[in-house]
Amino acid sequence: MYIKFYGTRGSTPVCDRDYLEFGGNTTCMALFREEHEDIIIFDAGSGIRKLGMELMKKEFHPTQKIIIGFSHFHWDHIQGFPFFDPAYDPSKQIELIAFGEKLRVSDLKKVLSKQMEGTFFPIQLDNMGAKFEYNLKKIREAEFRGGRVLINSHNHPGGAHGYRLEVRDKVIVYCTDIEHGDSIDKNVVSFSKDADVLIHDAQYTPEELPKFKGWGHSSWEQAIEVAERANVKHLYLTHHDPNHDDVFLRKMEKQCQERFQNCNLAKEGEIMML
Ligand SMILES: [Zn+2]
Ligand SMILES: [Zn+2]
Repeated sequence: MYIKFYGTRGSTPVCDRDYLEFGGNTTCMALFREEHEDIIIFDAGSGIRKLGMELMKKEFHPTQKIIIGFSHFHWDHIQGFPFFDPAYDPSKQIELIAFGEKLRVSDLKKVLSKQMEGTFFPIQLDNMGAKFEYNLKKIREAEFRGGRVLINSHNHPGGAHGYRLEVRDKVIVYCTDIEHGDSIDKNVVSFSKDADVLIHDAQYTPEELPKFKGWGHSSWEQAIEVAERANVKHLYLTHHDPNHDDVFLRKMEKQCQERFQNCNLAKEGEIMML
């Protein structure tokens, strides 16, 4: 079982030679388990395009599905979906998921169709071709693919949700686009408790954070505080600011590791074995 990062950038994709190490695509990561098991994807930022290309080369078991769970629907978490090749393949089954008690959207298909309306995009969602299933549930917990999923709503403009996946004795917590506010959100700490891996928003430095009140993000210091208080084994910081180039992020990663040893800034293309 492993996690692979396909997009680690926040807000908008960036393309420049100074961004090659940490990557320029927006948020997307995938969890791969056994060959025939469903592929679990979190968010469909521009990074999902590359993942789609990889999946098209893979042989699928007849019952195997691609599952895409959304933290929320800001552009940088959905903009890659129209470029996801498996979505155009009639042999593929794609389940689109939005879970969370405080979901502010009620129609998942409508939300995803919107960015593909004729004004914005040449092909409409209904004409893509894959078999889509829409699974929107206002729940906090569910049985999920031989394991369990828990969902926590956290502070972000428009609302956002974190996912805690408990599969095969491993705990993976995905928590991005979160603004803690003046103090760390206690629910996020308990939600991340004893996780093997926590993937947490760290768009800003502690110095930048006060200037971006209301943008919905965290500093690396806050992400580390969550990891420390929750006894997390490994922390991945993600949703890198588009203005932070490789030199900046390398320096930031060193600072983070001085404070919390088992911590990395997520890099596009990086794999973490579980
Ligand atoms: Zn975002
Ligand atoms: Zn957002």
